[in-house]
Amino acid sequence: MLKTSAITLALSLIVFSTPQQAEDQRVIVTNKGLPPSQLPTPQDMGKGGGDQDSSTTSQQPRGIKKIELPDMGDSSGTLISPAEEKEFGEEFFRSLHAQITINQDAEIQEYIQSIGQKLAANSDSPGHPFHFFVVMENDINAFAGPGGYIGVNSGLITMTEAESELASVMAHEISHVTQRHLFRAAEAAGRLTIPSAAGMLAAILLGTQSPQMGQAAIMAIMGGSIQFQINFTRENEEEADRVGMQTLAASRYDPRSMPTFFERLQQATRFYGQGVPEFLRTHPVTESRISDTRGRAETYPYKQYPDSLGYLLTKAKIRVLSDANTGAAAEYFQSRLNLGTPEQRAVARYGMGLLDLKAEKFKEAETIFQTLAHEYPEQPQYATAFARTAFDAHNYPVAANRYQKLVEQFPDNDAIKLEYITALLKTDKADLARNKLLSLNPQMQRLPNYWQLLAQAYSDLHQPAESHRFLAEYYYAMGQTQDAILQIRLAQESKGLNFQLSSILNERLNYFFSQEIEAKRKK
Ligand SMILES: [Zn+2]
Repeated sequence: MLKTSAITLALSLIVFSTPQQAEDQRVIVTNKGLPPSQLPTPQDMGKGGGDQDSSTTSQQPRGIKKIELPDMGDSSGTLISPAEEKEFGEEFFRSLHAQITINQDAEIQEYIQSIGQKLAANSDSPGHPFHFFVVMENDINAFAGPGGYIGVNSGLITMTEAESELASVMAHEISHVTQRHLFRAAEAAGRLTIPSAAGMLAAILLGTQSPQMGQAAIMAIMGGSIQFQINFTRENEEEADRVGMQTLAASRYDPRSMPTFFERLQQATRFYGQGVPEFLRTHPVTESRISDTRGRAETYPYKQYPDSLGYLLTKAKIRVLSDANTGAAAEYFQSRLNLGTPEQRAVARYGMGLLDLKAEKFKEAETIFQTLAHEYPEQPQYATAFARTAFDAHNYPVAANRYQKLVEQFPDNDAIKLEYITALLKTDKADLARNKLLSLNPQMQRLPNYWQLLAQAYSDLHQPAESHRFLAEYYYAMGQTQDAILQIRLAQESKGLNFQLSSILNERLNYFFSQEIEAKRKK
């Protein structure tokens, strides 16, 4: 039996690595198709914790439930129910927010979600729910958590040289989920509660480059002889590569980009000295794995796979956001101003414009974006950057005007709507802003900033109870449950409480308390 790359959390923790357990690690996550995760609407928030499809929450708060662990050798794949997996995923996502910066840029979010959903739809389990997001970390990493939550680090995205390379990593992660070798969670005595398990899993997946985070998670569950590991075996990796490549090809991305990116990853390890990219810790890349993947990719007919403009623009934006003002990004775009197709040169100009905007050189940025928007009127990102320039320069009425036109031109674009709403709030149109927020696609509620904007709108409308209530949801989504509790208390002390709102606040308070207690509970 192959040795697994188990990550132990502390010396006192015992790690399972027996062959039998390595075998059954793929059964911990159920593979039953779930409908796309239904988020609570602001209206029904507070009715049973917002979890509408789970009958198990009616008797007790969600946090009280435990993860049922497998009997060894059980391969039925029904270890946790779909409702529990969904809850575990949500907790995991909240824990990540508490530990690391999850990108909340609606444009970036829309792109990563679109490429991810395209791959998921072409995977071998198209009904499985997935949520994709970008982690603002320069370390090269991508990971899959419970409930189909797949994160890609900004450092990995800027390292890709083609959209298919990014897609190949995401397809690989999707396959770990659909093939159920996602994670292995186990404990010796008693059972890990979902909040503490989620926090711990988040810490493990974020890796050793953040030791204080791992420590925090260990503290949270201290006292129990808990075992917890992620060990993708070589077989798991090969399967994820094989299935991932099928998904990649079915989604019309280049299968050859998978071995190409693996090779680049391997080469990159030289620059890390002793530190290996986190991705390689949880997904070891071996020579034979690369050659197997290369061989398989070669069976597909060769053709060109042009990058989407969405990929190029998103990568440019992420490069600017993660640039530590070293001038590296400026150099990068500068060197590409006269390279490639007209579209690629336009992206280099866009990058320069974003750097200007970041440096508050509004005039320069405005000129660039206005020209680009004029040249590419069908590309919303250029015109949006033009509107954003006015916003950042505090010309709010101008910004609101530009956004309004864009919303009319691109009615399905939620990213523009969200930016428009921020401009409405700056131009004393809180009523309109609130109505637009409430009518946005519920997917936008995955961005904690959504709740912050809603709280701002109610604050501007002089409805402090509602404002505190939604600020509580913001803190909760950010993994700051204690701050959420404080906001509910402030809401309860506010004027303008009616019976309905009071009962919602009571329910949310009880729910947040139960989560907090469970997260802290020592075994
Ligand atoms: Zn892997």
